[in-house]
Amino acid sequence: MMKRFAWTTAESPSAAASAASTICAEAMALTDGATDGAIVMAGGIDLLDLMKEGLLAPARLIGLRDIADFGAIDLERDGARLGAGITLAALAADARIRRRYPALAAAAAGAASPQIRNVATLGGNLLQRPRCWYFRSRHHRCLRRGGVHCFAHDGDNRYHAIFDNRRCAIVHPSTLATVLVALGADVQLTDAAGGSRRLPLEVFLTPPAGDLTRENILQPREILHAVHLPPISEGIRMAHSKRGEKDAFDWPLAEVAVVLDLEPGGRCRDAAVILGAAAPAPHRAVNAARQLVGAVIDEKRATAAAAAAIEDATPLADNGHKLPLFEALVRRTIMAAAQGRLEDSILR
Ligand SMILES: Cc1cc2nc3c(=O)[nH]c(=O)nc-3n(C[C@H](O)[C@H](O)[C@H](O)COP(=O)(O)OP(=O)(O)OC[C@H]3O[C@@H](n4cnc5c(N)ncnc54)[C@H](O)[C@@H]3O)c2cc1C
Ligand code: SF4
Repeated sequence: MMKRFAWTTAESPSAAASAASTICAEAMALTDGATDGAIVMAGGIDLLDLMKEGLLAPARLIGLRDIADFGAIDLERDGARLGAGITLAALAADARIRRRYPALAAAAAGAASPQIRNVATLGGNLLQRPRCWYFRSRHHRCLRRGGVHCFAHDGDNRYHAIFDNRRCAIVHPSTLATVLVALGADVQLTDAAGGSRRLPLEVFLTPPAGDLTRENILQPREILHAVHLPPISEGIRMAHSKRGEKDAFDWPLAEVAVVLDLEPGGRCRDAAVILGAAAPAPHRAVNAARQLVGAVIDEKRATAAAAAAIEDATPLADNGHKLPLFEALVRRTIMAAAQGRLEDSILR
């Protein structure tokens, strides 16, 4: 049963940061997640779930919805600034984002379900906690919740990581993160004094090599304020694809974002191939990108890149099925990007 908590709202990013005396990961590493501290809440989709499941019990929640312009999208000459409070539905529907960053709009349009997309925010999506079923069980206090054991390694790990899975085998749950890392997005974090720090999302989302109880480096008294997207030049092509057991109302089993920078003649100047639902943080398939750079992309090149994308995988006992899934998805997403198609375009 959910424990009683106090509810306040903040009217500015610095006021929210000032009130946020703790963060979800810090509280969940304590027994029962009970804390005297205050945690910020955006749409509440993940936070309230954790509270209802008895995994988190903060004394106070701070709502972010009253912050002016927290959900604004500003198209800048050198890219775009997305307020952390924008909903996935608004992101998917924005004509400017659909035109400039179609893979991001498609990923937002295809995540979760229409009801969830209308409430869930960009910031909350990037900061949601992992879906590992042992992590989400009150009866399994695993490594990531401050315990001493990973239950997934000897247990049912069919949905778990195929890369970087030696210590903790979660997959990062955010669909948007997969595309945003491929695009080279930065996050802007604001503190209680109104100061900001800006860093690449790929650096912000941390793999298990560091503190195992958290997936990012957000600090108490700090909030995620905005995401900055780089400019899109003439030769940029992008695509995002996913496959899951269900088309909606579920997280994907595998997803891929590809961003290519093509010369006028079609030769690939630069490439990012990022795998989601594959590792504890969005996984950069460096060897796949190497297969593409300097080449004109065709089926043969995409097939070689797809094989390279999974060559370093270390599947667990139950998740070997992800390898052919990723291989096919990488090949198709590269071809979709190169041909300017949106492979899984769910844009409506
Ligand atoms: C059935 C189902 C299917 C789903 N499918 C998908 C899917 O396919 N892909 C996908 O990516 N997600 C999926 N989700 C997850 C959903 O998208 C996230 O739970 C949601 O985006 C969280 O956003 P929120 O605004 O509700 O965050 P909240 O629940 O309010 O917050 C989540 C966390 O972020 C922190 N937080 C939120 N905003 C800020 C901020 N600005 N600064 C600092 N901290 C902040 C909160 O303290 C909390 O720890 C699914 C969820 C459900 C229930
Ligand atoms: S995979 Fe990570 S979250 Fe899941 S049981 Fe192991 S340590 Fe916990």
